[in-house]
Amino acid sequence: MAAMPRRVALISVHGDPDVEIGKEEAGGQNIYVRRVGEALAEQEGWQVDMFTRRVNPSQPEIVQHTPNCRTIRLTAGPAKFVPRDEIFEYLPQFVRELQTFQRKHGRSHRVIHTNYWLSSWVGMRLRELQPIKQVHTYHSVGAVKFAAMDVIPPAAHMRLDVEKRCLETVDRVVATSPQEQQDLRDLVSSQGEIEIIPCGTDIENFGSVPRLRAREELGIAPETRLVLYVGRFDPRKGIDTLVRAVGRSKLRGVVDLRLMIVGGYHAGESDEKEYLRIKSMVQRMGIEDITTFTGSRTHEELPTYYAAADVCVVPSHYEPFGLVTIEAMASGTPVVGSDVGGLKFTVVPEQTGLLCPPRNAEAFAQAIDRILAHPTWRNELGQAARNRIVSEFSWNGAAAHLSDLYLRLMSEPLAPVEHPLHICHSMPTSWGSVGHF
Ligand code: UDP
Repeated sequence: MAAMPRRVALISVHGDPDVEIGKEEAGGQNIYVRRVGEALAEQEGWQVDMFTRRVNPSQPEIVQHTPNCRTIRLTAGPAKFVPRDEIFEYLPQFVRELQTFQRKHGRSHRVIHTNYWLSSWVGMRLRELQPIKQVHTYHSVGAVKFAAMDVIPPAAHMRLDVEKRCLETVDRVVATSPQEQQDLRDLVSSQGEIEIIPCGTDIENFGSVPRLRAREELGIAPETRLVLYVGRFDPRKGIDTLVRAVGRSKLRGVVDLRLMIVGGYHAGESDEKEYLRIKSMVQRMGIEDITTFTGSRTHEELPTYYAAADVCVVPSHYEPFGLVTIEAMASGTPVVGSDVGGLKFTVVPEQTGLLCPPRNAEAFAQAIDRILAHPTWRNELGQAARNRIVSEFSWNGAAAHLSDLYLRLMSEPLAPVEHPLHICHSMPTSWGSVGHF
């Protein structure tokens, strides 16, 4: 029998793998899809098609990243940025366009790996139409996210329904940490199969810049104590907790303390609103003179920032995995993070960093001060952090694990699709155009 072609479609409707990282709504998911895709195509002989939604008419339809890995942009809805909460109604068109692309290019996929709940819906619909296996990564679990939010968006119920159905019916759900698996079991469903495959990071890039050179490049004196935040401006990231923590640090005025906040924002969009809120909080705390907002930085630039920092702080209210954490650790920088989600798994308290209750500025202040006050211990934590990432969290390791999962699924018979239109029936009328298609 001829060998089965190793073709996988990575579906990421709202997270373009080719997009500039650091933009609003561009973050961990974009990186995950791109790096997994490239690593699979490189080491495992997979042909990888990464499907996403076009958000600009001038974007090319196909971007070839490596010989066997490409991004394919489908037209579904207007060719402009649409917030993810408003994308649902365009999903049926996304499904149709994906099938058209497959027909036109004579391409079939034995496995699809969907990312985020919107793409899970696309995958579940495709699974009704084609003989495929579906793997899903949540990236964010609605039931956990909404539990940590003050205002629940109107589309929440739809999302919760889709996420439950996804866990119960797709061929395998990939959780990126044991905590995510636990959350899915506790809050979503006891049915369905879950496998834990952690995210990875680029261990050659992060860790490539020596600390003193990094400080020279950024104009940071060797004796300065540098606290770093990297990530999006989003209330869920808890940057306000960090600002309050630095404001109440006992080391203020004792050492040359500095806070650097790395991340972009866009005029008129929600990340600008959060940036302005954080900026005014910095003023209220009286720490403007020691705080720098750098704007967004690329993955070529970020190793210098991580290496220069004494500590990287990840104060998120909720963090399903948290790539910034492992990027900092790979760079030899200890992390002070919230005791939530993926951070519980990646950060080993007292060995590679410290964990604090989310939103607790006093606990963060104490943890940051402990590390800043003990430079030798700080270096030991940083070295142990780097070692942990090198041995446990590379993209090649994640891709090898995923490849093994895909191959196992491909060798198993297809499961029957039950109650195929259940999701469509449960759609609220405001999503009317979706209907039965
Ligand atoms: N990032 C970046 N430039 C910036 C800010 C962030 O490249 O200025 C990247 C960061 O390096 C990481 C990703 O954005 O790879 C954020 O992923 P994470 O999982 O930490 O958070 P998410 O954005 O998915 O919530």
